[in-house]
This record gives sequence, structure tokens and C-alpha cells, in this order.
Amino acid sequence: MPNSNIEPLFVPSAPCARNYKQWAQLEDQLDSVISHRASQKRKQEAAFPMVQDYCAHCPITAECYAKALNGDGRGEKTEFTGIAGGALFHEGEVSVPFAVLADRRTA
Ligand code: SF4
Repeated sequence: MPNSNIEPLFVPSAPCARNYKQWAQLEDQLDSVISHRASQKRKQEAAFPMVQDYCAHCPITAECYAKALNGDGRGEKTEFTGIAGGALFHEGEVSVPFAVLADRRTA
């Protein structure tokens, strides 16, 4: 995850760690969409495969989400951009919450 700060959560049980090559490709696509100030709909479409195929089946989504919000635990926002716990983050802020991201019908 080149732009992510959640590498420490790459425990063997995390789906993104088990298929890192494909995850990294999806994340590169997502980063590209985010960096071009795309619409929320495009962000959702780029993030949806990651949520559907990875985060929705992950046993550590809560930890991943907390890490994206709080970084190393010192309470400061992170620079995180990407998917954590099924939510889309951008610069440490929740950009699209899980309930919206997981249901493309709302896009
Ligand atoms: S919630 Fe998603 S990004 Fe976080 S560890 Fe699990 S699969 Fe990876």
C-alpha cells in the first residue's frame, strides 16, 4: 500500500495481506481516482471491489478503521487515503462511510 499507513495491520488473517498484489493494483486505481478530485460516485465505484472482495470478509475491520482514524494512537489524524474497515478515507477523514460505500445503489 504505497499511500497507506495500515501496513502494521497486515496480519495473515487480513484478506488484503493474503492477496496483496491484487489489493495493491486496486489501491493504485483508487488513489488515482481520489487524486483527480473525482465525484463521490466514481470514488464509490473504485472502492467497491475492495470493500466487496476484501474488507467485507476481514476479521480486523474495527482495528483497521481505528488505525486509519488515529494513526499511531497519539490522537492525531493520519494522512491515510484509501480503504479501512470498509470506509473510504481521504487524508485521514472518512470520505465515504461503509453503509454508503457497500451499497452502490445509493451512488
Ligand atoms: S479492513 Fe480491509 S484494508 Fe483493513 S486490514 Fe481488512 S481487508 Fe485490509
